[in-house]
Amino acid sequence: MVEVFARETPQLLPLEERIRTFKEVNLGFTEEQVKREASRCLQCTKAYCMAGCPANVKIPNFINAIRRGDYKRAIEIICETNSLPAVTGRVCQVEMQCEKACVLNRKGMPISIGLLERFVADLALKRGWKRFECKAFNGKRVAVVGSGPAGLTVAGDLIKLGYEVTVFEALHKPGGVLVYGIPDFRLPKDIVEKEIKTLEDSGVKIYTNFCIGKSLTLKEIFDEGYDAIFLGIGAGAPVVLDVPGVNLDGIYTANEFLVRNVLMKAHLFPKYDTPIDVGKRVVVIGGGNTAVDSARVAVRLGVEEVKIAYRRGEEDMPARKEEVLRAKEEGVKIIPLVNPVRFVGDENNHVVKVEFVKNQLTYMDQSGRPMPVPIEGSNFLVDGDLIILAIGQKANRVFTQTVPELKLDKDGYILVDYEAKTSLENVWAGGDIIRGSATVIQAIGDGKRAAVSIDKNLIGKQI
Ligand code: FAD
Repeated sequence: MVEVFARETPQLLPLEERIRTFKEVNLGFTEEQVKREASRCLQCTKAYCMAGCPANVKIPNFINAIRRGDYKRAIEIICETNSLPAVTGRVCQVEMQCEKACVLNRKGMPISIGLLERFVADLALKRGWKRFECKAFNGKRVAVVGSGPAGLTVAGDLIKLGYEVTVFEALHKPGGVLVYGIPDFRLPKDIVEKEIKTLEDSGVKIYTNFCIGKSLTLKEIFDEGYDAIFLGIGAGAPVVLDVPGVNLDGIYTANEFLVRNVLMKAHLFPKYDTPIDVGKRVVVIGGGNTAVDSARVAVRLGVEEVKIAYRRGEEDMPARKEEVLRAKEEGVKIIPLVNPVRFVGDENNHVVKVEFVKNQLTYMDQSGRPMPVPIEGSNFLVDGDLIILAIGQKANRVFTQTVPELKLDKDGYILVDYEAKTSLENVWAGGDIIRGSATVIQAIGDGKRAAVSIDKNLIGKQI
């Protein structure tokens, strides 16, 4: 007989502390909460939750192991298919994936799958539990370009199968967006480092400060004896608005703002030698995770007033719902249904105001959401001396322009087939560079698909 409890709510860092520090806000479940939450799982024979997970984590099985108190087995089950559980347990868009598919969601109380995963993943890291065994070296070498979730997944899946795996990363730290984009208050960097160290301890070699296309070409990688290459280079180029005044001082792309703070620790200046222009009134333009992260970083930099301006309604913001809620608790105001049309500067060429036009929602667009359309004559001004543009990311051409024979779509994303193969022989690709900015778990799903195909092609062909 399954005991019926309400959905557990995680512990949170007190509000007054969180707005002054970059410490993690969501502190997760206690062991007691984990036991209660796991006991709510109905252990459905047809596990819809699994169908909602691109990494195919055997969710009912790991929850069942938790119910038995066998946390070690729980992490082994998770790591059969997911090499980054402490990351996904924190940042996965669960309300759109596994938890959306949970049958208890019909009553608005899905199992907190993400937080259960996080609990066992953190415990495994703390106790140093081995998560998986690796087969003996199979004689094949794979190079992975980019160390974001897509690249790390390919590395993790192939090292288990006995491949020699080397990851090349352009930045000085591995992790991709996990280290240069998502702030510590959502994803502490020591957690990402520990997850990556687990892969390194299993034999994955990671070379940082290594920009493929510049330091080494694809041909040179093959010449060095690698049998396959996976491209997981992300979509790290920011989209910039084309409106008057966009080049005024005080206007940042979210990419630059977050890299300066999250990776280069500008908030700890002068200890870290990265300056940041902190205004009094910040306006962030956008509605995704990048926008909400930027706004919450600005709160922690001591800015007086932080606003997020979004072109649709608040309920349509693509950011994780939990983070929107936390941002509002932290004092961030949301201005829905607006488009910026102009930035106004002072005599020093520094931005002081943003002019917006109001939108109304009309017919459904291709994304299935009502299309925002400007209302003529509804313009108004908002004060802002630090503007952060978080309106999207696009493919960075630094690498792709060095390989003209690699087929791309019209926006510069790498074209792949259903097995993640590119147009080049023995070159696979996945993550944001094949579809534009998406989610960690989609990048992981792509990495898994590519690893299966690489294995099939390299080992399968031998037989
Ligand atoms: P990335 O994570 O972008 O990693 C690509 C790596 O490749 C980078 O380290 C880059 O330096 C490296 N690289 C690029 N070119 C080269 C080269 N030529 N040579 C060597 N290395 C190279 N998703 C969620 O699911 N939940 C969230 O809460 C969430 N929050 C986000 C917050 C922010 C601020 C941002 C920007 C994104 C967020 N996302 C979130 C989206 C998610 O992080 C991305 O979809 C995911 O990281 C994509 O993974 P990836 O491996 O394709 O690329």
